[in-house]
This record gives sequence, structure tokens and C-alpha cells, in this order.
Amino acid sequence: MTEDASAKKELAAVKGTRDILPGEVEKWQALEGLARTTFELYGFRELRAPVFEATELFEKGTGATSDVVTKEMYTFTDKGGRSLTLRPEYTPSVVRAIIEHRLDLEGAPMRYYFMGPMFRYDKPQKGRFRQFHQIDIEVFGEKDAAVDAEIIEMAHALLGKLGVAGAETLVNSVGCRACRPAYSAALREAAAKRKSELCPDCQRKAETNPLRIFDCKVEACREAAASFPSIQDYLCEECREHFRKLRACLDTLGIAYRVEPRLVRGLDYYTKTTFEIVSSHLGAQNALLGGGRYDDMMKDFGGPDICGTGFAMGMERVLSIAEIAPAARKMLYLAYLGEAARMASLELARYFRSNGVECLVEYKDRGMKAHFGRANKLGAAWVLIVGDNELATGRFGLKDMATGRQLEGTREELLALLLES
Ligand code: AMP
Repeated sequence: MTEDASAKKELAAVKGTRDILPGEVEKWQALEGLARTTFELYGFRELRAPVFEATELFEKGTGATSDVVTKEMYTFTDKGGRSLTLRPEYTPSVVRAIIEHRLDLEGAPMRYYFMGPMFRYDKPQKGRFRQFHQIDIEVFGEKDAAVDAEIIEMAHALLGKLGVAGAETLVNSVGCRACRPAYSAALREAAAKRKSELCPDCQRKAETNPLRIFDCKVEACREAAASFPSIQDYLCEECREHFRKLRACLDTLGIAYRVEPRLVRGLDYYTKTTFEIVSSHLGAQNALLGGGRYDDMMKDFGGPDICGTGFAMGMERVLSIAEIAPAARKMLYLAYLGEAARMASLELARYFRSNGVECLVEYKDRGMKAHFGRANKLGAAWVLIVGDNELATGRFGLKDMATGRQLEGTREELLALLLES
């Protein structure tokens, strides 16, 4: 490798991360805008937490036996000797912020949303990155299964606006602290019987947290897991009733779903409801979003006993199948000729911009033909011609690049025209 090539390689984006460049970023902005307006219709407000937190927060929240914590965290020691972690998910941060600021005492609906990067050290592949982006929503203090149904409906409302068709909703209940131990015991027994067929990782999980075996993608483990007992047969009366209500609410809302008893999700904290919305257009990493209820997390963090429910949507995955046409831009290109016109253009550009017109001047002396060539290449909607004559008379020429129409007027007249178009 030449010196040049190796320098280039060193300076490339880190594996599993990527740049979102102009041309693509407009779709991200459209998604963010649609998400914001949709969530605010349901009473959600934005809550922005830091990108990194104390490592302990995720060990405690996400769960010490989850894959995310055991294998995927970006953990580092800072100069003060603290162990910090780039957030692999958002829920623990929100719970921490609520406790820290006692948001539960404010009396406002505890409905929060956030959009931003998450970090997981996993094997990069299609639909899986090390820095990826999630849209996250959380609701606190609402025990009723109707809220779980409502957030599933909200997810569908957003997906509908994004033109995502054919997504399937999977739901399950993973029980609670009262009924899950008996299920875990039954699972451990079943896993022990088929231990030799399981991958080394699942052999370990069979002892530490047998529920996690359902997350494994290894075919032999999936086959074995298919024969394991179903949690649906172990739910306590309260969890069974909650799940029945969830289904009734989804039916009322006309949302089709499939009960998937092996949907336990990769994080340790879920209680009762879990759900995913998947798409067959995505390939192996088929989950657009996943979520569920986590009624014990706040209490386990030493905070008030307030239940929570929410979901996280993968922005890269949604965007890969969304049909979003960002609004067309209408740019005014300012073509100046000569020194005096160059100076006047500075001020003219300010005038148009301050009145809401996107305006571009490139301070490179060009002839008129070169200006038009450049404006064409940039896709400018209009070209304003500024030369000595125009400055003397205060009347400017404007060309509509789409139709070729030539107009003329004062800057005020032309502004009115641009704003109307
Ligand atoms: P999770 O927090 O694991 O439940 O993930 C929620 C959603 O985030 C998933 O359904 C995916 O859409 C997305 N997601 C999770 N991990 C990744 C990743 N490594 N790269 C891209 N998207 C991801």
C-alpha cells in the first residue's frame, strides 16, 4: 500500500459506523419531523439524555446477563478512573433522568421520546451497525394494557406515514416476577435435556438465563427452542388477564397481530407485554422496532414504584424501506458580474434569506455562461442577475430555470414573486 492509500484507510470511518451525507440526510430529517409530530399528538415530549452514562446503569437496567451487556457494550475508563459506557439503548437513561429530576412529582404525563445514536459492539452486517440510531418512546405510570396497545398503534401510525407496508406485529407476555421463576425452571429443565445440541453460548445461558436461548440465531438452538415449553402456559392470573386485555385493545384498534410465545426480546427487564414489528423486506435483521413493559426497573434503580412501557425503532432499518420523498428545494442562485455587484450580492443574499428564500452566492468570479452552467448543475430553481446596470437601476433580471421564463423587477417585486411560486 502506498503511504497515501494507508493514510486514507486510517482516516476512514470506523467499522460499523457511517456518515449520513447530504442527499440522504433529507430522508432522516423527514423521518425525524414525522416522528416528532406524530408523538406529540399522543402527548409525548422530548427528553434528551447524555450519550454516555455510568456503566453500572446499563448493568443494572439492561441486565447483567443480556447479550447487550455481556458482549456488546462500548465501555471505557475515563481520566478520572470512572467506568463509562456509550449508551447501547435508551430506556435506562430515561429512568435515571426521571429519578434524578423527580419528574414523577411534576404531574405532567410521563410520556417521553428521543432520537439519536446508540452503540453496540456487534458483528456489522446488513441492518446492523455499531453506531446506529433509534427513535425511542417511553410511557411511565400507566399499568393498563390499553397503553401498550396505544403505543403499538402509534408505531403503526408513524410507519403508515412513512409508507412502510406489510409490517407484521408480534406480541407476547413474558410474565412477571411472580410467574416467571416457575417458567424459567421448566425451561432450564427442558434445555438441560437438549444441552448437547445447543451452541456453547446457549449451554451457558441454559444455566444463567434460559430465556435468552430464544434470542439465539443458531439453527440448532432455534430447533431445540421450538420444543421448549411456552410461557403462555405459565402466566399467573394477573399476567394472563393483562395479555388478554392487550389483545382485546389491539382488536378494538383493528391492528392485526400474531402471538409469538418465543418473543422474549434481548434485554432482561421486560415484564408482561413484549412486542416487535417486523418486515419481510428487511432480510435477516427483520425487526423494525421492539419494545415492551418494564414494571420493575424504576423501583430496582431505587426510585419510586412506577411502571413503564415503550419501544425503540431502528432508524436505519425503517429508512431502508420507507417511501419518503423529501420536499423539493427551491434555491435562488445569485449570478453577479464585476466587483461592485459582488459586494452588492452579499447584501442582496441577506435580503432574500431573511425573507425566507434559500439563496446561494459563490464568491468566485464567473462569466454569465459559467454562472448559468453552475446554477443548472446545482439544480437552482431561479437565477438572479446582478451587474452594474442592475445596480444602477435597482431592477434585476430573474430567470426561472424550469421554464426558461425571464422576468424583471425590483428586489421587492421579485421577492413577492419567489414567495408565491
Ligand atoms: P432493541 O433495543 O435491541 O430492542 O432494538 C430496537 C430496534 O433497534 C431493533 O428493532 C432494530 O430496528 C434497531 N437495532 C438494534 N440494534 C441495531 C443495530 N446494531 N444496528 C441497527 N439497528 C439496530
